[in-house]
Amino acid sequence: NRRIVLAERPRGEPDETTLRMEEAPVPEASAGEMLIRTEFLSLDPYMRGRMNDAKSYADPVGIGEVMTGQVVAEVVSSKLDGFAAGDRVLASSGWQDWAVSDGREVLNLGPAPERPSWALGILGMPGFTAHAGLYGIGAPRAGETLVVGAATGPVGATVGQIGKIEGCRVVGVAGGPEKCAHAVETLGFDACIDHRAEDLQAQLAAACPDGVDIYWENVGGRVLYGVLPLLNPFARIPVCGVAGWYNLERLPDGPDQGPQIMGTILRMKVKMQGFIIFDNFGPEEYARFRSDMEKWLAEGRVRYTEQMVEGLEAAPAALNDVLTGRNFGKVVVKVG
Ligand code: NDP
Repeated sequence: NRRIVLAERPRGEPDETTLRMEEAPVPEASAGEMLIRTEFLSLDPYMRGRMNDAKSYADPVGIGEVMTGQVVAEVVSSKLDGFAAGDRVLASSGWQDWAVSDGREVLNLGPAPERPSWALGILGMPGFTAHAGLYGIGAPRAGETLVVGAATGPVGATVGQIGKIEGCRVVGVAGGPEKCAHAVETLGFDACIDHRAEDLQAQLAAACPDGVDIYWENVGGRVLYGVLPLLNPFARIPVCGVAGWYNLERLPDGPDQGPQIMGTILRMKVKMQGFIIFDNFGPEEYARFRSDMEKWLAEGRVRYTEQMVEGLEAAPAALNDVLTGRNFGKVVVKVG
């Protein structure tokens, strides 16, 4: 049983001393438990936060503990009602080959789900985040302008495509020309701007001639500062994540942006709300998401890109890639 544990808390970007691969015996299931074997491990930006010993919405991973993460696993043996050998399950058993589960907070996907790994992406947590956050906080209306950062990632790509379905002008921001072309040509965004461009602000202004009504915050940094002056009265900002800052060691140098941020929120009467998907939204929103998304995928109105990485040992480097934009689409590790 290979497993990856947190060896030490990183400062800045995690490196080869941050995580450690260990061997452990395959655990045994007792009465009321099942033994599961990981097939796919999801890699998500929030994992960087769990490496810090800081106050947050979830406890940090302890030193020596298995890294946290959602997986799709196969039930190998079960002494638990409702789960049989051969079933695929969505579980939170982390970065390891094998685990024992009592079935709590585990979703049974059945013996033959069509695309099991999609339960970690478009049909799972990131897709739900985009759908619930956009409808619940962004409140899109036809004709409005929506700007979304990390536009080709699982959350951003979904937010933008739902925005198009609702009749918004959608402007993405992404890292590099390849991702920007994908956002426009494949995802159907109206425009996409490379956040590394020196004249990012001017390009954003040109792409949003009627200002910005919804800014979906995924990244923070220059994208946020570029959008601020463009916000229209009563704009909404669902604060989903600030991935551009997750590896920050200390506050950046430079002018204090506080007055600009708070002044804009006040003068433009902006509604800015942070949310954590499973804390803010429940079964009702989840059911609506599943029904919309299954329909849109079947109709080809939502496209989904998955990047499959081979082997548990490749996970640490692949997580760094997610955090720094070297990924393309939803990153899933094929474990077993
Ligand atoms: P992504 O695949 O989009 O990964 C994050 C992306 O952020 C990178 O790929 C990169 O894309 C972009 N990025 C990194 N650094 C910068 C920077 N300095 N400036 C601009 N962009 C940058 O991940 P997800 O779609 O899974 O997640 C998107 C966001 O949503 C994250 O912030 C995540 O934490 C958050 N999230 C929040 C949830 C909640 O409940 N609140 C639930 C799920 C996700 P690029 O190459 O385009 O720059």
